[in-house]
Amino acid sequence: MLSCSTTFELGVDLGDLDTIFLRNVPPEAFNYAQRVGRAGRRSGHPGFAITYCKRGPHDLYHFAEPNRMLSGKVQPPVLTIRNEKIVTRHVAAIALSFFFRAFAERFQTVESLFKDLSSPSGVAEFTAFLVRNRPQLEETIRGVVPEDMLAQLGLSDGRWISEISGENSRFALAEAEVSSDYRSVQDLRKASFEKGDDKTVVWAGARAKTIAQEKVLSFLSRKAVIPKYGFPVDVVELDTQQTQGAFKVSLQRDLSIAISEFAPTSKLVANKKEWTSYGLKKVAGKEWPKTFYARCSIHNVFRQWNEGEPEPTLPCGDRLRAHKYVIPQFGFVTDRDKPKDPKARPAKVFSTRPYFDRYRGPEPETIPMPAASPLVGIRKASPGWMVVLCEGRRGEGFYLCGACGAGFRTRPRQNSHKTPQGQDCRGTLEQVSLGHEFVTDVLQMQFHPLPPSGTDIVPFAFSLAYAVVEGAAEVLEVPSIDLSATVAHSELHAVPPIILYDNVPGGAGLVARLEREDVLKGCLQAALKRVEGGCGCTPNTSCYGCLRSYRNQFVHQLLQRGPIQRYLESVLSAWV
Ligand SMILES: [Zn+2]
Ligand SMILES: [Zn+2]
Ligand SMILES: [Zn+2]
Repeated sequence: MLSCSTTFELGVDLGDLDTIFLRNVPPEAFNYAQRVGRAGRRSGHPGFAITYCKRGPHDLYHFAEPNRMLSGKVQPPVLTIRNEKIVTRHVAAIALSFFFRAFAERFQTVESLFKDLSSPSGVAEFTAFLVRNRPQLEETIRGVVPEDMLAQLGLSDGRWISEISGENSRFALAEAEVSSDYRSVQDLRKASFEKGDDKTVVWAGARAKTIAQEKVLSFLSRKAVIPKYGFPVDVVELDTQQTQGAFKVSLQRDLSIAISEFAPTSKLVANKKEWTSYGLKKVAGKEWPKTFYARCSIHNVFRQWNEGEPEPTLPCGDRLRAHKYVIPQFGFVTDRDKPKDPKARPAKVFSTRPYFDRYRGPEPETIPMPAASPLVGIRKASPGWMVVLCEGRRGEGFYLCGACGAGFRTRPRQNSHKTPQGQDCRGTLEQVSLGHEFVTDVLQMQFHPLPPSGTDIVPFAFSLAYAVVEGAAEVLEVPSIDLSATVAHSELHAVPPIILYDNVPGGAGLVARLEREDVLKGCLQAALKRVEGGCGCTPNTSCYGCLRSYRNQFVHQLLQRGPIQRYLESVLSAWV
């Protein structure tokens, strides 16, 4: 009997299992123990486990040093309980539980929560309830929220009420979105009825019912109003516009990934069906946040500004075309068609690129390392604004309709197009990129030694940055997906600063651990090991065994491991 699974639920006894075959190296020692421990559970039947190591940094590393995975030494899990967005969701959950205890009848469907979906009153009544019961609610919330976060969350001045039910709260945005969806299908139903389009009348009726009848708990967690499994931070959906039961699927991603994987025309497979994104979800009366930006890829400079502000000059002196990015905060939408049967795994067409924008507070102090004769300057880990952009194919962006949200890769020839609901639309198309902004813990690394003259500096800096990420993941014993890096710009130094950041928006306290000199040195040693050639690629290139990963596709062609090997060797030999 062959049983295949991404993972087995804990607690399910598979006593008769003899052999485990793993098709990759699990992320950490505890995952490994959990998986291989499923075999050989009966006395007299020893288990046997084989692990296939893929050609990727993580797998190759553990292939060379299997003891780390096999020894069974488990890093204690670290929980950050100070992530503002997640704590805000807990506060919302507490407040909602009081509300539902007072009005049990509202804890049923989306319609019972918001009442008339064409003109909902859920948020307004919830806010009034919070104001009336403020002292009692605050007492309970204070018992849950970490002491040092009380002021930040507005518990000292009542601001928490607007955080969870104000105009820009997740709850208010969710109400606006569901109401907009509901009104638009009702309008479609009416228009189709007048035209005698029975099929659409039936679809719109079923769709309206699906929207209205969703269970409150599922709705609130789907819209990230309350905490949910896996603690996602900035989660959005690809709305498949399905009606009850048929092809039920919930497609969600963190916005930093969604801007490429859910970008208009992207395809993905879920529940054995292929879904195609048609555009951005449009909510009546709401605009997508829009920001102007310019970037110089030669000098790796990035600047952004708001509409109406003067266009900044770039520090490198180049004059570049201003672009625009929108933040798809209501997620994405497919068209109304039924999903197709997938023929092959759809190719990922778009990639994303991160930029460091600015520190949230004052510029942090620099720690020279090693202290005796500095080679690297570390700016202490501090909250900083990151921007991730998806600029479409070859930087051409997307043609986005401001009226209905439909998105195209090239400008359509006709003057009209279809809305995601299939109606004719003559809205104006604008060329935009898709963006996501978030605050996370950022640690800046300034290398002082000069690379050999004639080095192409931006590719060199990116290669160094990705070696450092892998090195950091190894010394911190976390999956490298938990950390990211990008390169910034400096007029003062030959090597551009490297920005290392926690991949979890809000930060998880990881990069701050590199402020210790021994940890940083260990990180550079592990980074050197990564580029020493164990992967088998030639020094003037790179592969998935050294510097490349799914996330840095935008620079794959530029990454070279050889120059980084020589550079880190010289840095470490000078390190006393
Ligand atoms: Zn430039
Ligand atoms: Zn349109
Ligand atoms: Zn390689």
